[in-house]
Amino acid sequence: MSRQLTDAELEAYFDEALPAEEMARLEEQLRLDASLRERLAGLISLRDAGTHSLGAIWRRHRLSCPTREQFGGYLLGTLDEAAREYVEFHVTVAGCSLCSANLADLRRQRAESADAIQTRRRKYFQSSAGYLRKG
Ligand SMILES: [Zn+2]
Repeated sequence: MSRQLTDAELEAYFDEALPAEEMARLEEQLRLDASLRERLAGLISLRDAGTHSLGAIWRRHRLSCPTREQFGGYLLGTLDEAAREYVEFHVTVAGCSLCSANLADLRRQRAESADAIQTRRRKYFQSSAGYLRKG
């Protein structure tokens, strides 16, 4: 089990003042722990109150972007709770424009392939109906 992080550690993470290994470890913890993300967001908003929106701060110091596979899983509903929350947090709270575009693109692709399946089914149905009539 991971021990409780201090505010100082979270702030050091935010300032990217930790060694690379520690940064990676904290990032992993933040990815898995929604309440920890809230704590960090609280610390940031206290410190930057009035000067920046939370979204802007997260864009500036953003956590790693989810992969395209993760977004695929998100759209299919196959991600576990923590991963799903992370994707939502990243896109809606952090407002990562790169990932928003990525997600919109995947949504469009999925809609298109659903359309293609419908069209194929309709064609198949029409041709077999015609065949049955002839017979
Ligand atoms: Zn992103």
